[in-house]
Amino acid sequence: MDQTAVPDQCDFTVFGGTGDLALRKLLPALYLRDHEGQLPRDTRIIGVSRAELDDAGYRDAVRAALTTHLPAGDLDDGSVERLLARLHHVALDVEHPDDWHQLHSLLKDRPAPELTSRVFYLAVAPALFGSISRHLDEIGVVDERSRVVLEKPIGKDLASALAVNDAVGQVFDESQIFRIDHYLGKESVQNLLVTRFANTFLEPLWNSRWVDHVQITVAESLGVGERGGYYDHAGAMRDMVQNHLLQLLCLVAMEPPTHVGRETVRDEKLKVLQALKPMTAEDVASETVRGRYDRGRVDGEEVASYAEDLGHDDSATETFVALRAEVQNWRWAGVPFYLRTGKRMARRTSEIVVVFKAPPHAMFPHSEGVTEPNRLHIQVQPDEGMRLHLTAKEPGPGGIRLRPVSLDLNYATAFAQRLPDAYERLLMDVIKGNPTLFMRRDEVEAAWTWVEPILTAWATSPGRPDPYRAGGTGPDAATALLERDGRSWQAHDR
Ligand code: NAP
Repeated sequence: MDQTAVPDQCDFTVFGGTGDLALRKLLPALYLRDHEGQLPRDTRIIGVSRAELDDAGYRDAVRAALTTHLPAGDLDDGSVERLLARLHHVALDVEHPDDWHQLHSLLKDRPAPELTSRVFYLAVAPALFGSISRHLDEIGVVDERSRVVLEKPIGKDLASALAVNDAVGQVFDESQIFRIDHYLGKESVQNLLVTRFANTFLEPLWNSRWVDHVQITVAESLGVGERGGYYDHAGAMRDMVQNHLLQLLCLVAMEPPTHVGRETVRDEKLKVLQALKPMTAEDVASETVRGRYDRGRVDGEEVASYAEDLGHDDSATETFVALRAEVQNWRWAGVPFYLRTGKRMARRTSEIVVVFKAPPHAMFPHSEGVTEPNRLHIQVQPDEGMRLHLTAKEPGPGGIRLRPVSLDLNYATAFAQRLPDAYERLLMDVIKGNPTLFMRRDEVEAAWTWVEPILTAWATSPGRPDPYRAGGTGPDAATALLERDGRSWQAHDR
C-alpha cells in the first residue's frame, strides 16, 4: 500500500508532546521505526507543550516513557540514544500568539529548511486545531510538503466537525490532512481487506444471500479513570461508534476498489457510510441501547460505578452503546449490522463476527449434533487473528456425529514475528504522505450525519442510560436487541 517515498529531511512536531498519547504511543512508535532504520536519516522530533522543559528535560521524560511503555527486549541502547538525540522541546502556549517565535526559529534553523518535510501532529484538544493551524501559517512554516495529523475526536457533532475541518482546511489542503483512526493501522484490520480481496472463496458469499448478520464489538475492561471530565462530554457514541466502529463496518461492507490507491479505498468506505439507513426518533428508541456501568468486578477486583468515577450522579452520558444498523444497498439489503461498545466490560476485546446463514436443509439427524451456522471471527485486538467456525464429523465408527471445529489463523504464531503497533504503521504513512488509511473529510462528515440524529434523540428523550454491572456484557436491553430477532451476541471465543 506504500505509494510514496520517505523524504530526506523531516521535522516531526508533536503538539501535546508531553501528553499521554505522545509518551505512551507516538514516541514509542517513532522509536521502533527509527530502530528499524525507517525514519528519514535527518529527522528532528519536536515536542510542544506549555511545560518549561528544555531539551534535556524532555529527553529524560521520553527516556522514562520508552522504558515504561516498551518491553525491555525492544530497547536497544544505541537506538534509544539516537532517538533522544533527535528530540527538542518548545515551551509554547498555542493560544498565545507571542509564544510562537521559538518554534519558528527552530523549524527554520536548518541549512535548507525549504527541503524539509514538516509533520504537525496535533495531540491536543480538537478545540485547538484551528488556532494551531492558523499560527503555523502565520509563522510561515506550512508549505506544500507539510502534513498535519488530527487526532480524534474531530468535533462532537456535525457542526463542530465542519468547523474543525473548515479551520484546518483554510491552511492545509485536504491532501495534507491526515485524520487518524488507529484502528485502521491494525494488522488484523488491513488483513480483512486482504482476506476479502486477495482470495476468491469469501467474496461470492459476502452478501445478503449468504450472510445472516454481522456483529462488531469493541469492549474495554477499563472505566473512565482520570479521564472522566473529558469522557463525560463525549460518551461511547462519540468516542467509539462515530469513528472506530463505523470504520470497521465500512471495511466489512465496502465494495472492492479497483486498486488500493490514495482515494479508492476511501471512496468505497464513503459509499457505505452514505448507504447507512438514517435513524428516525422511533428507530432510535427501538434500534439503539445506551448503558452506564454500575459497580461490579473486573479481573477479580471490585470496581466503582461511573457516577463514583465521575464524582457525581448528574450525568446522562452513556458508557455503552448497542445498535442495529442497516446498509441499504444491493449487497447488504436486509442484513443487520449489530454494533456494541462499552467500558468496564468483562474483557478488553475488539472483534468482528460475520455469521453466515444456516444450511438450507438439515440432512443430518438432529440427534447427531447441531449444525451451527458458519462464522468468520476476526479478532482485531488483542491476539490479532481470524477463526472460521465450521461443522465437522467427529472421528470414529458408528454413525456421523457433528462437532464444531475451527480453522485458526493466529497472526503472531502464523508469522512468528512482532506485530507492529498501529501507530508505527500510520506514522510512517504520514511521513511518506500516504493517506489511504486515514479518514477523509467527507467520511468524517458522513459518519457524523448518521450518528447525530441518534445523539439528538437521546438528548431530547427523558430516558437515561440503562445501568449495567461492571465486568458483564452490558445492559439486558442489549441482549434483547438481538434476541427479538432470534439471534444472540457471539461469545468471545479465544
Ligand atoms: P493529555 O495527556 O491531557 O495531554 C495534552 C497535551 O497537550 C499535554 O502535552 C499538554 O501539555 C498539551 N497542551 C494542552 N494545552 C496546551 C496549550 N494550550 N498549548 C500547548 N500545549 C498544550 O491528553 P492526551 O491523552 O495525550 O490526548 C491528547 C488528544 O488526543 C486529545 O484530544 C485526546 O482526545 C486525543 N486522543 C488521545 C488518546 C490517548 O490514548 N491518550 C487516544 C486518541 C485520541 P501542557 O499541559 O504542559 O501544556
